Amino acid sequence: MSKAKKSEAGPLAYNTNLRAEIETDVNTAPRARVHSVEWRKIMTGEPVEINPSIGHGFKIMPVSEWSARWKRNDDFPDCLQCKGTNTKEHHFTQTWCRGKKLWESELLCLDCHHFSWRSYKDPDFKTPEEFERDRWDAIIAGQTSILA
Ligand SMILES: [Zn+2]
Repeated sequence: MSKAKKSEAGPLAYNTNLRAEIETDVNTAPRARVHSVEWRKIMTGEPVEINPSIGHGFKIMPVSEWSARWKRNDDFPDCLQCKGTNTKEHHFTQTWCRGKKLWESELLCLDCHHFSWRSYKDPDFKTPEEFERDRWDAIIAGQTSILA
């Protein structure tokens, strides 16, 4: 059973069978909204909130300490600025709708402190809302043509 599940999950990986270009972008601050306020404080040496699972309160932290709990994305480990792989992913989202995918990933490079953005969208990706709306539009259009 678990084996069958695994082979089903294989082709549904977010980073395989891509049918469009991955959009890339390099910035000195996060493009994703998450962590952008903290990053500005880290860069100016202001205290940031200690992760609630370790403690409480605020502390001035080096980048390495602040990002210590983030994981590397082994699918896309390389920094788009310095090509190094000393990176951690701080933002990742993926949306699936009827086998079509949309995702975003952003890494922080611990060597050059640049943020590497990657995002992808299948050419015919529709959110569930868009899919429903288009379906209804088609039904309505169909009815109109029957009436006309
Ligand atoms: Zn780098």
